[in-house]
Amino acid sequence: MMKLADKVAIVTGAASGIGREIARVFASEGAKVVAADINYDGVLALSKEIESGAVAVKADVSKKDDVIRMVKEAIDRYGRVDILVNNAGIQTVRRFLDLKEDEWRKVIDVNLTGAFLCSQMVAREMVDRAVEGSIVNISSIHGYIPRIMKIHYDASKSGLIMLTKETALELAPYHIRVNCIAPGIIDTPMNQEVLAIPEKKKSMIERVPLKRIGEAMDVANAALFLVSQESSYITGAVIPVDGGLSLHP
Ligand code: NAD
Repeated sequence: MMKLADKVAIVTGAASGIGREIARVFASEGAKVVAADINYDGVLALSKEIESGAVAVKADVSKKDDVIRMVKEAIDRYGRVDILVNNAGIQTVRRFLDLKEDEWRKVIDVNLTGAFLCSQMVAREMVDRAVEGSIVNISSIHGYIPRIMKIHYDASKSGLIMLTKETALELAPYHIRVNCIAPGIIDTPMNQEVLAIPEKKKSMIERVPLKRIGEAMDVANAALFLVSQESSYITGAVIPVDGGLSLHP
């Protein structure tokens, strides 16, 4: 029995890395996938690979009109939305003293405001259609473990954790669950540059108690659990997928 048969899932940032893997894993469990990204060619290629049914949408999650169009596309095509994964994210590396307002705003806009807009539009659809849906936000262990050079990214990820908990509370009366995954170091294009330097990669692996870098599939498996019936009593949770890294950062 497929875990997501007849479910319709919107995955943002689905053209690459973790989002792409989440879309593929959901599809392999029978979901119809709405793959959204600013990289249209990427989601189009993905949608052609998916046999259970998929639609590619070009959408910038930080733009309200794009989010409205993304949700409309899902409804027009499949009639409902059962699952939303807020995965789209960007990061830059900048010293706090050098961080410009524009750069701060851009990262907060995509990573946090984007998740707010998508969650609100999708949750309204779920409530209107009495869909007992599930939302998963992709945060980071740096939503609760501070470091240097990424204050804008880490603040956005911290915000996502509170967005998770508060939407979980507000949407619980409608039986909509909201949970969060906090990945550690995952091998995706976002980390390509740093993982390409052998000494850096080695020192990163050393820091992880399970002694390996995570794969996109590790995050996708957790996302599958959080949107499936098996987690039906879990809401407002933040689950680290980090090989134990956050136990002694
Ligand atoms: P990635 O760069 O491979 O993929 C991110 C995707 O988001 C890309 O396809 C990109 O085009 C898309 N995107 C960017 N801005 C967008 C926008 N405005 N609207 C729609 N789509 C947009 O990165 P990834 O590693 O797969 O990251 C996925 C998520 O996981 C991100 O939220 C990231 O912060 C989070 N995360 C990643 C790691 C890691 O180690 N890779 C760790 C913790 C958290």
